Amino acid sequence: MTTEITAATLREWALPEPSFDDDKEGRGHVLIVGGSREMPGAVMLAATAALRAGAGKLTMATAASVAPLVATAIPEARVIGLAETNSGGFTVEAARRLGDLFGSTSGKAGSKPGAMLVGPGMQDDAATAELVHALLPRFAGTPLILDAAAMGAVRAQGEPHLLEEPKDMEHFRFREAVLMTPHAGELAHLTRRDKERICDAPLEAAQEAARRWNAIVALKGATTVIATPDGQQWQHQGGNVGLAISGSGDTLAGIIAGLVARGATLEQAAAWGIALHASAGEQLSIRYGVLGYLAREISAEIPALLRTLA
Ligand code: AMP
Ligand code: MG
Repeated sequence: MTTEITAATLREWALPEPSFDDDKEGRGHVLIVGGSREMPGAVMLAATAALRAGAGKLTMATAASVAPLVATAIPEARVIGLAETNSGGFTVEAARRLGDLFGSTSGKAGSKPGAMLVGPGMQDDAATAELVHALLPRFAGTPLILDAAAMGAVRAQGEPHLLEEPKDMEHFRFREAVLMTPHAGELAHLTRRDKERICDAPLEAAQEAARRWNAIVALKGATTVIATPDGQQWQHQGGNVGLAISGSGDTLAGIIAGLVARGATLEQAAAWGIALHASAGEQLSIRYGVLGYLAREISAEIPALLRTLA
């Protein structure tokens, strides 16, 4: 059975609210890993979205060459500069550094994020897959959202042959469920299927991928579907074609990460995030028209919508 995500569904599935005496740590710490010299903006969009969704604390890890620029653009964040590969990705050393600073065994009280988002604006598919594989054991127990290039981790194997693609796609499974947010083109690439086939049967495609990878899969489009490894399904229709713009998905991923840091489950944050993002598009289309609003304008709509939908 597929549950339609509506205002009523969301009201029954209330988001965790902070208590009056929470500090920023209690409000939720988001760690966003991504960006590159060519795409520094993607992590900025995700970061703003996470804060607008109500997270209390934000750490960003991005390409060293653009880290100061990102830090200036997002003054609320701590920004860590990561060493880059020649192709604009991060070296696997980045995983060790992040693991030491924020990982599940780093032991520093207060530093562990409540949600980690990896992928927006990342380049160098091979290095990115390797990085994700190296992050997974270091962030055991941290709810993880993989978007954009970071989802390529399912096409590569873990140690010792990190970058060899398995012939048998059954092979790759996450140990703990993560959330993946592909659009149809990305899911087609990840599953080596035709995009048309995925668009013809999106629920089936998302469900198959969810079971295979042990991931919650939110397959994005004009209608977005969510499938979990144990067979739960939701779908959401809304927003408008104005949301089909560069940076839109980065913003959605940031909203979801912010909600997870607040204590929402991955599937709850996906459902709420998708609805908030679509409603923001509807609000912006009233102000500007369906075409011409910017991805960076989506986030500012979120706080009021959170109140309306609660
Ligand atoms: P991305 O392709 O990663 O930038 O993500 C695009 C975002 O915009 C996703 O959240 C989609 O669900 C949404 N989107 C794209 N096209 C449409 C559309 N025609 N109507 C409504 N939402 C859309
Ligand atoms: Mg995207």
